Amino acid sequence: MTQRIYNFNAGPAALPLPVLEHIQEEMLDFRGSGMSILEVSHRSKWFEDVLDDTTARIKRLLKLDDRYHVLFLQGGASMQFCMVPMNLAVAGKPVDYVDTGTWSTKAIKEARIQGLDVRVVASSQEKEFTYIPKEVPSDGKAAYLHLTSNNTIRGTQWRLFPDSAGIPIVCDMSSDIFSRIFDPAPFGLIYAGAQKNAGPAGVTLVIVRDDMLERVPATLPTMLKYTTYVEKKSMFNTPPTFAIYVMGLVTQWIEETVGGIEKMEGVNNRKAALLYDYLDSQNFYRGTAMPDSRSFMNVTFRLPTEELEQKFIKESLASGLGGLKGHRSVGGCRASIYNAVPTEAVQALVDFMKEFARKNG
Ligand SMILES: *Cc1c(COP(=O)(O)O)cnc(C)c1O
Repeated sequence: MTQRIYNFNAGPAALPLPVLEHIQEEMLDFRGSGMSILEVSHRSKWFEDVLDDTTARIKRLLKLDDRYHVLFLQGGASMQFCMVPMNLAVAGKPVDYVDTGTWSTKAIKEARIQGLDVRVVASSQEKEFTYIPKEVPSDGKAAYLHLTSNNTIRGTQWRLFPDSAGIPIVCDMSSDIFSRIFDPAPFGLIYAGAQKNAGPAGVTLVIVRDDMLERVPATLPTMLKYTTYVEKKSMFNTPPTFAIYVMGLVTQWIEETVGGIEKMEGVNNRKAALLYDYLDSQNFYRGTAMPDSRSFMNVTFRLPTEELEQKFIKESLASGLGGLKGHRSVGGCRASIYNAVPTEAVQALVDFMKEFARKNG
């Protein structure tokens, strides 16, 4: 009998069980091909259908109009930290960034390496990135404004995106894409490594608006230009076929089983409320993010001592709750409650937390 745990990993992370079962079912003979999806040519009709279907589902889920191109890249979200400034900077203009922690900080570093005029227009560094800045000043001069929608490590999230005064927003949505409704209109480019909330590691989703492509310098290497992926439908070279296929199944699950992004957001809101309501009701655990900046995807908290945190992580795993250790850079505990983490898992976590507090408080 297969024994599965409740998986709170930050990434790679939980995938919906029906998706895993679907993969298993068609593994040996993919849709009448007599081969697995891992073995078919990326130029075959079988894979072409997967790519088209996945693209169409992403466009429907995020309500993207015809100006937006859906691309599948490699190199992780980290590759986008350098590709964004390479492709979207404009000569003579600054680029604006908001620093909300580790991933934003890395994106800023990559833009600076390229010698650009990088302006950090808002930051929450002085309070250890425990909040989302309230004001994001704009003088209307920047080529783009870069944000990280959900801060996977610090457990903060933009609940509402700032008004960018017409400046295209570039956003790293690696850990909350497909988790909630948002208006795509202010976004010039969105990117997301799949392994948090959208699929397995190995593919990075990039959504780019038509007008951004006019900026792409002709002098960039072919593989580093967004225009190459647009012109060649993400198939200039061999794309990560299996990862795209799984992303297709995940988006199908959101559309057909969950019932769309609205429903998904409702489930996510209930899951986050379960956990935060409990955190707010007691004094043993302490949430680390400011209440108005809390992430609905990554819930970060501390226990009274590091010894108790280690004990908590060990005993929770023994009780079938995995992945609750905080990021190595910040310590503490973190429950990642992405789309694929069911409500029962969050309820089981809250029950475990109550019992642990009762025994150790
Ligand atoms: C995990 C993560 C990254 C890094 O992703 P890679 O695919 O490993 O490069 C970047 N940004 C955010 C918000 C993340 O959560």
